Amino acid sequence: AKDLGRGRFELFDAAMRAHARERLGLENALRRAAERGELRLHYQPMASIETGEIIAFEALARWEHAERGMLCPDTFIPLAEDTGMIVPVGAWVLREACVEAARWRARGYDQITVSVNISPRQLAQPDIVGTVFDALHESGLPGDALWLELTETAVMSAGPEISARLTELKALGVRLAIDDFGAGYTSLSHLRRFPIDVLKLDKAFVQGLGREKRDASIAEAVIGLAHALGMTTVAEGIETAEQLQALAELGCDLGQGWLFARAAPPQDAAALMGGRLLP
Ligand code: C2E
Ligand code: CA
Ligand code: CA
Ligand code: CA
Repeated sequence: AKDLGRGRFELFDAAMRAHARERLGLENALRRAAERGELRLHYQPMASIETGEIIAFEALARWEHAERGMLCPDTFIPLAEDTGMIVPVGAWVLREACVEAARWRARGYDQITVSVNISPRQLAQPDIVGTVFDALHESGLPGDALWLELTETAVMSAGPEISARLTELKALGVRLAIDDFGAGYTSLSHLRRFPIDVLKLDKAFVQGLGREKRDASIAEAVIGLAHALGMTTVAEGIETAEQLQALAELGCDLGQGWLFARAAPPQDAAALMGGRLLP
């Protein structure tokens, strides 16, 4: 029995080592990808639910892998977050998104904004405020043309240092958004303590709309409370006309999802500019 136990342990150990090797391989590949410029940003519009007018584009990272093709962020963002690679990668995303948005504005779309995902690890960096400042300064993009999407837990668990950082970011003029906001709307009242401007309802939430009565009641409460706190509401992952209809009835401000448009390379996103996404 002892031998069997050891055999099992060795098997486990081998699997662990293989896993570690694979991760290291991916980590090195990601580092080279960043250096070689294989990272890309795709852009997905957020539009007014009432008028279809495009208000903002969310920048979403892609990795153009030489052999494996275009990789989605789920394959490399969590790894980048674990290893700390997200800090340089995230700084690149910020710079690139600000340069792109400055181009849109220079072409006359002077109200358009760009929304960038900021991971918890990036927010924990003392120099994140400097990184955002540099991205704005180098691109010439005004602060109010940039939204930063933060995760609920990163904000809710913020100590005094991160709270102060959020205030400094606000002082640059940027808007702060909470991404993937979930069903527990009790935490929304805690959000009052932070300078949050935009609330993005998680797509898991939006999915049941038009079918599940309970989802509609929760969404109604969240949207109502967000509005009472002066926040703009965005629903993500809208795929059907029923979901859109339900959100319109609930008074949600902006929508994002495949029903409107998928995330696309900058030239395709630019082609949508100025148009309306809905009849
Ligand atoms: P997220 O911030 O919640 O982004 C929304 C995700 O939902 C995107 O996936 C988007 O393509 C997808 N989506 C949009 N509309 C629909 C829809 O109608 N239906 C469905 N089922 N999905 C929809 P994507 O691009 O694969 O990004 C996945 C996640 O990776 C993002 O989730 C975000 O957390 C992370 N991510 C992407 N880019 C960055 C980045 O530059 N920095 C950081 N820190 N995270 C990033
Ligand atoms: Ca996001
Ligand atoms: Ca989201
Ligand atoms: Ca998400």
